[in-house]
Amino acid sequence: MRILRTIAELRDALAEARRAVPGGVGLVPTMGALHEGHLSLVRAARAAHGTVVLSIFVNPTQFTEAADLAAYPRDEARDAELAAGAGVDLVFAPDAAEMYPAGHATTVHVGGRLTETLEGAGRGAAHFDGAATIVAKLLLAAQPDAAYFGEKDAQQVLVVQRMVADLGIPVRIVPCPTSRDDDGLARSSRNVRLSASERSRALAIPRALEAVRAAAEAGERSIAALRATALAELSGAGSGAAERAGADAGVDVEYVELVDARTLEPLAELDRPVRCAIAARVGGVRLIDNERIVPARVDPAS
Ligand code: AMP
Repeated sequence: MRILRTIAELRDALAEARRAVPGGVGLVPTMGALHEGHLSLVRAARAAHGTVVLSIFVNPTQFTEAADLAAYPRDEARDAELAAGAGVDLVFAPDAAEMYPAGHATTVHVGGRLTETLEGAGRGAAHFDGAATIVAKLLLAAQPDAAYFGEKDAQQVLVVQRMVADLGIPVRIVPCPTSRDDDGLARSSRNVRLSASERSRALAIPRALEAVRAAAEAGERSIAALRATALAELSGAGSGAAERAGADAGVDVEYVELVDARTLEPLAELDRPVRCAIAARVGGVRLIDNERIVPARVDPAS
């Protein structure tokens, strides 16, 4: 496995790989601090391509809080070891000056609901401008056949798909399922910042998603009722929490939304697939998670 620092080095290495190795190129963009969630994307890319590139770049332009950027975990030596173990061929780990050289003045802005709601509202418009711009730059640098993204960031997947379609970037975007720890918490680089008691409080988030899924499966179609189910669980008052001895206090909810899974438009009724998306703070850590929720199938015989 090679670690490359510049776009020119990456392009040279990929030109050689394309000549020597059949199966095309898969790209997995990350901000490092790798965990099993990232590695599940690598494995999907590994299964489909002759060459797998993993990028590691903590993109400053998508952080809307300086403290969050400063606290973001970084450990390139460990990342390189994990990447090599998972079968990555090339790690692209540029510094900020390589991606944003002096005079850099271009931003990719995906407009409309996809970027204005949920994370766009919670973190500010700059977040998706930063994310779309760096993904566009990474796609142009590597020119992969496919790029792999996690549904953990389902809104980001929609934004990237929109951008790729609008700009005609010739790449296949492959969404991959959210990888969770055994206790249900979605894997995230930020989880290492949770104390043991914060982590146990954070479990209200997957419990809330599970409660919404169960209610939808049982036939609940009111979005307001489904949202109330999630909020009860997040406040520590839900049935799931109550079952646990000494249930911890809830989390600090930023938003809970159930929106059209494709357009992110608000809905009153669960009459199509929706995305239930949650952002919450636990201690100083902001966590997000989501689940696709589908209406219960109506038995035609009943
Ligand atoms: P990040 O390093 O957090 O920017 O994430 C890099 C990529 O890994 C993004 O496409 C994320 O959606 C994806 N990812 C992060 N956490 C998970 C997870 N728990 N399961 C699946 N994909 C994930």
